[in-house]
Amino acid sequence: MEKKNIDWGNLGFGYLQTDKRFVSNFKNGAWDEGVLTEDDKVVISECAGVLQYAQTCFEGMKAYTTEDGHIVTFRPDLNAERMEASCLRLEMPVFPKDKFVEAVVKTVEANEAYVPPYGSGATLYIRPYMFGSNPVIGVKPADEYQFRIFTTPVGPYFKGGVKPLTIRICDFDRAAPHGTGHIKAGLNYAMSLHAIVDAHHQGYDENMYLDAATRTKVEETGGANFIFVTKDGKVVTPKSNSILPSITRRSLMVVAKDYLGLEVEEREVYKEELKDFAEAGLCGTAAVISPVGKIVDHGTEICLPSGMSDMGPVTKKLYETLTGIQMGRIEAPQGWIKVIK
Ligand SMILES: *Cc1c(COP(=O)(O)O)cnc(C)c1O
Repeated sequence: MEKKNIDWGNLGFGYLQTDKRFVSNFKNGAWDEGVLTEDDKVVISECAGVLQYAQTCFEGMKAYTTEDGHIVTFRPDLNAERMEASCLRLEMPVFPKDKFVEAVVKTVEANEAYVPPYGSGATLYIRPYMFGSNPVIGVKPADEYQFRIFTTPVGPYFKGGVKPLTIRICDFDRAAPHGTGHIKAGLNYAMSLHAIVDAHHQGYDENMYLDAATRTKVEETGGANFIFVTKDGKVVTPKSNSILPSITRRSLMVVAKDYLGLEVEEREVYKEELKDFAEAGLCGTAAVISPVGKIVDHGTEICLPSGMSDMGPVTKKLYETLTGIQMGRIEAPQGWIKVIK
């Protein structure tokens, strides 16, 4: 199979249309078989539930070419489970887990020519999503839904080297204590756009959101979970019901404990503790970990000892081990790697 003529190393994180996408429709209480199609256009009613009341959720994952030439994805069962949780919270029908994984596999296979080669640093981003598709004007869940998966090749995240981020403690809240912060709903992103545009205007890379109830505890950023490393080498991640359970973060905690022999803690992390950490990082599918160099709290700067020029040593080991597992250089825990071909 011939790869597309793409300058893999210079791709950014943007949408590039690929050949095939998976589409399945839910109608009269059941999902249809689903098909792969070349049609990239979604045609729905002007009054579709998603357009009026934002009834939609999504997932994000990647396919990689491993060192020995296989195409794999990473823990797609967890994406299926998380999408199930999102659907239940948004009164949407669940797309069954085995069908979800099967549809991911089919979509990646159909776009094999766009899976970046090993060593390019690029990957094939996979975007499953679902939305209410029939007309809804009185506020209620839709009766019909569409589940789709498209793929798009994305470039190496740390193009031109690692650059630790400067983030600010944000005065806007991301998620209410009993709200929707723990699910991957489009609505969480719509309301974060103003905060991130404002952060960028002020010269910050990201927002650190605090817990909405007390504004004393660290939650996450708009699209990534935090991990911190204490000065005595413990890996700490915030615990909260309003954090989105990042698959990368959950995997990194296993890597820290089982591969690196580090002590790990998932617990409440207070803003007041930030000055005591040795390293901080943002975890998500896009970057795996991006190091944080500086946190600004209304004019007070907290400079992480790991500095502004590279990842901290523990962050780097975590990054290298997890990406090694994903790329097939390091043996993975049972069930983490789904081989596509
Ligand atoms: C998707 C997402 C993450 C990262 O999750 P991964 O499964 O690691 O990609 C973190 N926070 C939020 C709010 C997210 O939407």
